[in-house]
Amino acid sequence: MPVQTIASTASVELGPAAALSCRECGERFDLGPIFACTSCFGPLEIAYELPQGDPEELRRRIEAGPESIWRYAPLLPVPADVAGKPNLNPGFTKLVKADNLARELGVTGELFVKDDSGNPTHSFKDRVVAIAVEAARAFGFTTLSCSSTGNLAGAVGAAAARAGLRSCVFIPHDLEQGKVVMAAVYGGQLVGIEGNYDAVNRFCSELIGDPLGEGWGFVNVNLRPYYAEGSKTLAYEICEQLGWRLPDQIVIPIASGSQLTKIDKGLQELIALGLVEDRPYKIFGAQAEGCSPVSAAFKAGHDVVRPVKPDTIAKSLAIGNPADGPYVLDIARRTGGAVEDVTDEQIVDAIKLLARTEGIFAETAGGVTVGVTRKLIEAGVLDPSLTTVVLNTGDGLKTLDAVAPTTGPTATIRPSLDAFRDAGLAL
Ligand SMILES: *Cc1c(COP(=O)(O)O)cnc(C)c1O
Ligand SMILES: [Zn+2]
Repeated sequence: MPVQTIASTASVELGPAAALSCRECGERFDLGPIFACTSCFGPLEIAYELPQGDPEELRRRIEAGPESIWRYAPLLPVPADVAGKPNLNPGFTKLVKADNLARELGVTGELFVKDDSGNPTHSFKDRVVAIAVEAARAFGFTTLSCSSTGNLAGAVGAAAARAGLRSCVFIPHDLEQGKVVMAAVYGGQLVGIEGNYDAVNRFCSELIGDPLGEGWGFVNVNLRPYYAEGSKTLAYEICEQLGWRLPDQIVIPIASGSQLTKIDKGLQELIALGLVEDRPYKIFGAQAEGCSPVSAAFKAGHDVVRPVKPDTIAKSLAIGNPADGPYVLDIARRTGGAVEDVTDEQIVDAIKLLARTEGIFAETAGGVTVGVTRKLIEAGVLDPSLTTVVLNTGDGLKTLDAVAPTTGPTATIRPSLDAFRDAGLAL
């Protein structure tokens, strides 16, 4: 396994992060830019020394913090003074009470949309990148990089620009124009790879092992253990915004599955710290039918995920070989949730449903979660009488192609009242 250590990691100061630990065998390693266990090749994750003591005091400290993910700095692998450094201050996005959508879906309990399109580059990826930037700084990396299905490229480009780092990001060559432009505009290097995301990812793994990639922090590869922790902030925010209460059910999109597993980790931490009451919650995973390896494994009762070749309009979720797939299966089964998928047509319908009922224009990933929510309610799997949170992780302006063919002006007319009347437009 390639290991690059630019700065000495002995003095790494990343707040409550104590070590890296293997998710398979538990072996511990010093904090550094490594991501796989040298004994069993299992993925590494951050082990913490979390704040002990009075939950009330911690709750007050969080509530007095900045209106960004940095209010949770005591629970993240970041230096204590992180909020004062040049970064994009993502997070603390709206938790929208979606009463109109609830009515349409037959939800009698509370339904919320956690709307992460409100982040600086309009997707949830700003959360994970912000944490990775701190790790990159701590390890002395000078170039920020990633393999991306689109949103990550923009988030890395923007974060690097703000932090004063170089960036070079890699994407499949055939992404949506909105995502390509967004990834390029921040001025770093953007490289289109002739292949799908899984090919891009393989290429990046090679680059990490090569002198060409020296000094490069790949946020979702060699910085992955740090990056992944950013998703915990979704769990923290949802609970805080519910008045320090766990939701009963959460519907989360799955690409690599990292976000879903870390939301679960975040909820577990809040319970362990006494910040929320310890009671059951169910986690539901959502995929597009055209890239549904985790959903297929869940339905078949398998523990392993068989890779697929993605073919869906939900390109931000188009990872055919999801690294965290088996952990997602564990979590869905342990919590009594499920993993389900919807067709491209159902995704488009769901995007329009959310827009029409709540005024939220989601990207295709949001269409996936709303569509899966609808499907699971109809199937009697999701309980409509409980408190449910559905994630919208990105902005519809980046995936206009998905809805453009079936969405447009009601009419185009001459600028006259007669024309307006004749066209039957009076409401
Ligand atoms: C990256 C991404 C996700 C989730 O990705 P994971 O790899 O499963 O963590 C969800 N929605 C959008 C819009 C994304 O860009
Ligand atoms: Zn191991």
